[in-house]
Amino acid sequence: MTADIQEILVSEEELQSLCDKLAKQITDDYKKSDRKLVLICILKGSLMFTTELMKRIDIPLEIDFMKVSSYGTKTVSSGYINIHLDIKREDMEEVDFLIIEDIVDSGKTLSHLVRYLKERGAGSVRTCTLLDKPDRRAVDFDPDYCGKVIPDAFVVGFGLDFNEKYRNLPYVGILKPEVYGG
Ligand code: 5GP
Repeated sequence: MTADIQEILVSEEELQSLCDKLAKQITDDYKKSDRKLVLICILKGSLMFTTELMKRIDIPLEIDFMKVSSYGTKTVSSGYINIHLDIKREDMEEVDFLIIEDIVDSGKTLSHLVRYLKERGAGSVRTCTLLDKPDRRAVDFDPDYCGKVIPDAFVVGFGLDFNEKYRNLPYVGILKPEVYGG
C-alpha cells in the first residue's frame, strides 16, 4: 500500500495531537450543556477518527452512526447525498449532535446533514472534521471544529479510502494520481 502513496501529509504523531486538541475543545465547549452529547460517526471514513477522538473527550457521551455517500468509486463528488443508514431516536430535542467527519471537500455532505438533523428537531447540531480542503468548497459551509486544513489533493489513510482500500494506513497520505487515473 505504501508504494501507492506520494507523500505523507499527516503523520501518526500529528494525528494523535490533532485528536488531543479537538477533544479538549469539545470537552470545554460541551461540559456545561444540559443536553446529552451524541457523536454521529459518518461511516465508513470517520470510524478511526471517531474512536481516537471519543476516548479523549472527558464528558459523558453516546455514539450513533450514519452512512452517507457522495462519492462512488471516483475522486470527485457527485453532489448528490444519499443516506444509507440513518439514526433512529425519540429524543432529538434533548440532544447536542456533533457530526464527526473525516474530510470536508465541497461541503455538500455536512451542510446537507446539518440541515437534515435540524429539520428533525435536534437540540443542537455542530460538525467536527479531521481534515478540510477549503479550496474545493462549492457551498457556503464552515465546520465548527477542524483538525487540519490541507491543500487540494486526494488523500487516503486513517479511515479514508480509495475503492475501499487504504483505510488501515495509520497516517494520511496523498495517493499517487496514477493509482486513480488522475
Ligand atoms: P463533500 O460533500 O464535502 O464534497 O465530500 C465529503 C466526502 O467526500 C468525505 O466524507 C469523503 O468521503 C469524500 N472525500 C472528499 N475528499 C476526499 C479525499 O481527499 N479522499 C477521500 N478518500 N475521500 C474524500
